[in-house]
Amino acid sequence: MPIELNSLSQSSLQDYNDCPRRFELRYLQHLAYPAIETEPALENEKHQREGEYFHRLVQQYFIGIPEQQIAKTANTDTIENWWNNFITNKDVTGLKNLSGIRTEVTLSAPLGGFRLVAKYDLVATDGQKFYIYDWKTYRKRPKSEFLAIRLQTRVYRALLVQAGAFLNNGKPIAPEQIEMIYWFSDFPNDPARFPYHADQFKRDWDALTRFAEEINSASSYPKTEDSNRCLYCPYRSYCNRGVRAGDGLDVELETEVEELFDINFEQIGEIEF
Ligand code: SF4
Repeated sequence: MPIELNSLSQSSLQDYNDCPRRFELRYLQHLAYPAIETEPALENEKHQREGEYFHRLVQQYFIGIPEQQIAKTANTDTIENWWNNFITNKDVTGLKNLSGIRTEVTLSAPLGGFRLVAKYDLVATDGQKFYIYDWKTYRKRPKSEFLAIRLQTRVYRALLVQAGAFLNNGKPIAPEQIEMIYWFSDFPNDPARFPYHADQFKRDWDALTRFAEEINSASSYPKTEDSNRCLYCPYRSYCNRGVRAGDGLDVELETEVEELFDINFEQIGEIEF
């Protein structure tokens, strides 16, 4: 039976990779996860909202709103701390030498029978290389080895190769021209950087294509065999995998969903079929 889903994102692919059942519940059945009432989880939701707000402040900065004016709207201690970290350490990322800065860029390219879509926090160039920036408000700094294999790192770089030509005067961007940088608002001096190469791009695009084919032809969406993943999964009460609320980085990762609902598809940079 064909599935009713047009687009794939790093979030949905990560869910499919981690647990096909979670992919089914979140993206095919569109189930909101049950209300969370335990303290750590409420705290996590607050942290998540603060993270979204911080992203808005950074975006305002790059569209030219004066930093003092933005600082006045940092309305919690956590956001104020992140904002100060950003203003004090933003040069750590190398951003000050870059031009052609674009925030909230959305790219899309065909992938199997789907569109692969990604919304980038910021893309900038020095005329030679293109830098993808992603702001993270995690409470722990993930290991770079862990980030290297996350679908976000793989999708964002591969999609810039496939669909980023309009950022490069119509010329395709080569993998070697791309670097992705995660900047952590609580660890401002320790960004994670991921250059890219042609062989990595081939590996990634082949893997993404296989994912798309598998999702398209799937007749069932099994639960993960790794029950550790369930500890932090917001859907665990649907699966008889316990009701305990998780905490820490894992729950942040499991509930981090890319918001693609507000995308105007007419405005997406996309390669032609
Ligand atoms: S609780 Fe476990 S099996 Fe159920 S969706 Fe979450 S990760 Fe998958």
